[in-house]
Amino acid sequence: MSIKNLGIIGGGQLGSLLAVAAKKLNINTIIYCDDVDAPAQNFCNKFIHGRYDDKVKMQEFIKEIDVITYEFENIPYETLNEMNKLKPVLPKPSVNKLIQHRIAEKDFVNKLNIRTTRYASIENKSDMEPLGDFLPGILKTTTMGYDGKGQYPIQKIEDINNLNIDFSKGYILEKLVKLKKEISVIITRFGNNSYEIYEPIENTHEDQILKHSVIPAEISKKIFEESKDWSIRIAEELKYIGTLCVEFFLDKNENLYVNEIAPRVHNSGHLTINAFNISQFENHVRAVCSLEKIPLKKISNAKMVNLIGNQIRPYRENFKLNENEFFFDYQKKEIKDKRKMGHITTLI
Ligand code: ADP
Ligand code: MG
Repeated sequence: MSIKNLGIIGGGQLGSLLAVAAKKLNINTIIYCDDVDAPAQNFCNKFIHGRYDDKVKMQEFIKEIDVITYEFENIPYETLNEMNKLKPVLPKPSVNKLIQHRIAEKDFVNKLNIRTTRYASIENKSDMEPLGDFLPGILKTTTMGYDGKGQYPIQKIEDINNLNIDFSKGYILEKLVKLKKEISVIITRFGNNSYEIYEPIENTHEDQILKHSVIPAEISKKIFEESKDWSIRIAEELKYIGTLCVEFFLDKNENLYVNEIAPRVHNSGHLTINAFNISQFENHVRAVCSLEKIPLKKISNAKMVNLIGNQIRPYRENFKLNENEFFFDYQKKEIKDKRKMGHITTLI
């Protein structure tokens, strides 16, 4: 059966960019989101507003679609699992469940003999006491974090007393890596040993939010190969279908670590829209809709800059772009501090 109607859970900029890519492939997109102002409603064919536990609204969504995907990972497992009984959810709900929990995710990566930061599970304040070895570190909520939300830098054990931490949520303490740089690898897997992989992307964060992404990453041949090899192993082990991003740390001694896995298209891959023949978004739609896999070809080196909060303003006011610059406005209703409002990609 050929797939005509793609359901997407989540209506942020990643949903918008998936909808734009689907349109090019003549696939309709129906977006389900709990935010009535979700910007992706400006880009999809149909928008349904509802909570992620509203079974009636979800039925309305499921009726309309052939296959379901998602653009963010913080969706209740129950929701994805229930939907999967009626229409295929890709990537599989079990993959999302694993990755949305930072400890399960790191356990999984370590089992593949792939390095992560050192980490420990923290359920209450006293769990921290024997963990001086893990400091300086970062305490993170095990679930629901993004863009650095729910993260607390800890220099010494006593710091915990000055922070108002709600220990009814689960936490993970991660040892701080002395970062040389951060890179990410985006891969789209279509089936057994069938994938397209993008070259590593070098990322710079400000306030734990991605600011710049650039290709080529300035890394050694060894790190180039190792990061790609690990990403392929992760995607194969998960029997993943669709686009996945692996975020890496590189330390000052040239050790590579997996930071986290995103079971979806990723902000660092925005530059693939202009720098490759097929973007991460188009590849995701192709994989989840069982369309043809087309060999990747790079068009150009590129740099992407996120426009955060007020940084979007000058670009909205008729900014003159050069021929090699591409401006994306996510059309979010309200400009907010630390909110990703748009991006610019420059081919270099
Ligand atoms: P999120 O889910 O919010 O993206 P991350 O775990 O990726 O959370 O953390 C966001 C950023 O914070 C990372 O990209 C990195 O810059 C910094 N960071 C997080 N954990 C560590 C760590 N253990 N060592 C060094 N930097 C870290
Ligand atoms: Mg991250």
